[in-house]
Formats: sequence, C-alpha cells, structure tokens
Amino acid sequence: MPPDWSNVRADFPILHQNVGRHPLVYLDNGATSQKPRQVIQSLVNYYERDNSNVHRGLHALSMRATDAYEGARGRLAKFINAADPAEIIFTRGTTESINVIARSWAHAHLKPGDVVLTTEIEHHSNLVPWQQAAQASGATLKYVPLLGADGEGGLDLAALDTLLTPQVKLFAFTHMSNTLGTINPVAEFCRRAKAVGAVTVIDAAQSIGHVPLDVRAIDCDFLAFSGHKMCGPTGIGVLYGRRALLEKLAPDETGGGMVVSVTYEGATWKPAPERFEAGTPNVADAIALGVACDYLDSLGREKIAAHDTQLVNLAMEKLSALPGIRIIGPRVGQPRSGLVSFAFEGVHAHDVVTFADQDGVALRGGHHCNQPLMRKLGLTSTTRASFYLYNTPEEIDRLVASLQKIQKFFAG
Ligand code: PLP
Repeated sequence: MPPDWSNVRADFPILHQNVGRHPLVYLDNGATSQKPRQVIQSLVNYYERDNSNVHRGLHALSMRATDAYEGARGRLAKFINAADPAEIIFTRGTTESINVIARSWAHAHLKPGDVVLTTEIEHHSNLVPWQQAAQASGATLKYVPLLGADGEGGLDLAALDTLLTPQVKLFAFTHMSNTLGTINPVAEFCRRAKAVGAVTVIDAAQSIGHVPLDVRAIDCDFLAFSGHKMCGPTGIGVLYGRRALLEKLAPDETGGGMVVSVTYEGATWKPAPERFEAGTPNVADAIALGVACDYLDSLGREKIAAHDTQLVNLAMEKLSALPGIRIIGPRVGQPRSGLVSFAFEGVHAHDVVTFADQDGVALRGGHHCNQPLMRKLGLTSTTRASFYLYNTPEEIDRLVASLQKIQKFFAG
C-alpha cells in the first residue's frame, strides 16, 4: 500500500502557508527539502533536555548526548547499509565530505602522471575539489562526456572503456544529476573502476532521500551526502568510507577530540570515525538526521521513489506540451530523477522564477552550480522544478498554469 500522501503533507508545517495571496507550492527540493515536525521536534527535545558536549563528559547529560550522537551514527550506517558505524563520518554536508577525500586521500595518493576521472555533469562540489587536487599533485583531470545536444543521451558509457585505464586512481561521479535528472549506473561505474584499481567516490546529494541506497551492493569506496536534502537539518552530512581505506587515511583537520595522545612534540590519532571529526561535532543536527532516516523509512524509500517518478512523468508530459520550452536531460519516458530543468524561449530563468513566485510557486533558476555543463549545452541558465514526497499532481497544474501566464506576458 502506498502511504497516504495527504497525511504526509500534514507533517510539514512550513507547507501550510500562503506566499502573497497563493498557497505555497514548494518545488525547490533539489536545493533543499522541507523538514517534518518529527525532525524539528528532535532539535527542540535535544536543546531542551540533553544539550551537552559529547565524548569527554562523565555527567548524565553528556552521556545522554553521546549515546544519542553515536546512536545517530549507527542509524545512518543502517540507512545506507554500511558494514560498520565507524564508516560514517559526520561532516557539514556533501561539499565538505568530498573535500575531505580530495584533501586527505588525494594528498596521500596522487602523483604526476596519475589521472582523476570525473564526468561532464558534476555539481561544482564534485568538480572543483578534484581540480584543486589534480593541480596540487600534478595529476590530470579527465571527464566522461555527456551525449546529446540536450544531454538526453546520458554519459557516454562506451567512452569509459578508453578513459578507465590503470592510470586512473580515482573516479568521482554523481548518482543523480542536479540539473539534468540523469540517473547514473553507479554499481556498474564502481565495478568498472575497480577492474583498473581506481577508488570510487559517489556524490549522492540528489539521491539519498529519494531512492533506497546500499553502499555494499553498489560496492563504492566513498559516498557523500547532505542531511538537508533528505528532510534533515542544514549543516550536517555524511562521508561514508570503506573501513579499510579510512584506517589508512590521515586526517585532513586536526585538533581536539581526534587525538589519543599529545605531547609538545607531536600527536597520535584515534581510529575512524573520530580521527575525521576534530572539534565539537554538530550533535543536535546529527541526532535529527537520524530521525529523518526513521521518517523516510517509515514511508518507504521505494514508495518515495515511485511517487517522485509519478510526479516527474506528469510534469514532463505537461511541460513538453507547452510551446517554447526546451527540456534538458532524459526524454519523456526515459528514466529520470524527480526533477526537470528547462529553458524558456526568450525569457531568462530568473524572470521565470520571479514571476512564478508571484503565483506562490517556488522554483530555482540559474546555472545550478553546473557552469561547465551549462556552457556545453549552450545555455547560461535553466529553470528547475524538483519534486519530493509532499508534492501533489495539483501542484504541477499550478506550475503549468503559472508558466502559461508567463508565456502570455512575455509574448506581449
Ligand atoms: N552535489 C550535488 C549533485 C548537489 O545537488 C549539491 C547541492 O545542490 C551538492 C553536491 C552540494 O551539496 P551541499 O551544498 O549540501 O554541500
């Protein structure tokens, strides 16, 4: 039985408001998701009852906070089927998680002549850190090309045969594109990377709260995601790392909490995950992220994925019927994640978003942190509608009605 999605909406207090004269239609979930009251309540409970510093305290509050923080780590491990909670490092989000690997792993392993492979569709957060790592080490950065004038062909899987050579030391790729909606075959990428001895890094920012995700089935080495895109708070995210790799890795940040012993001459490190969590961690948000996992699993991630697909298919059908709209990414009927980006003939994306806002419809317009991809597609910006578990078919009608109004206005 699918969940009753109208009950789900009741869990999100923020959705029940007007923007101007119109009820809010929130279609900017690719940027950040809204939070259910269960997650909000967890933050209130923590600060009202348990707030204390973790790991170093012997009093009741500190022990409660430590138990809840470490409990959240275990919950996150279960959420992605990691073998061990020690493989879960709490970070600020996807960007920080990728930077940790780019600084610590890349610093220790990359040398001139090596290749770092990524793709033409990456968010800046999974691109700029690799540019920096390649520049610092003398390695070369290469890209798996995107196929099709509108990016409709997905990544060129045949090109992987020539790109994935033994010189490739690391292959970093997104699970779902934040602009195109493309879904990459991540398990296949990992299998092919492993065959040449390359370490794999998956950017799961857009997929984590939307589809079931199993790091052992995918067989990746590292996986990065943000809490705020999966009904959790901002400022918290995860770097999953295979334990055998984490154990050999030096920390990228040092300070309190991550050391075993310090003398005036030097220091020794704790094992993972503490070795990678210097300073006071983000306790409240980590605990609330565990609650977000409970929330998503209570609905069922397969069901959330099916709901996303139903909405995005409907949106694709209706948007493709509008004149002057160029949809990028997979074509109608092809698999895509729960978002759709389009260019509006003769109207800048910022104008589309501003006008839609006057109808209470929240969209995103711009380059979506995908500047090289935009250039490749010959665009400066697109408008993006991104759906999640609380969105409804009626909200897609509101989106379409607003776009039709904008079209009329600009047609003069
Ligand atoms: N990767 C992808 C695919 C994203 O969509 C985003 C955010 O939009 C990020 C990385 C960066 O996430 P954060 O800003 O939460 O670190």
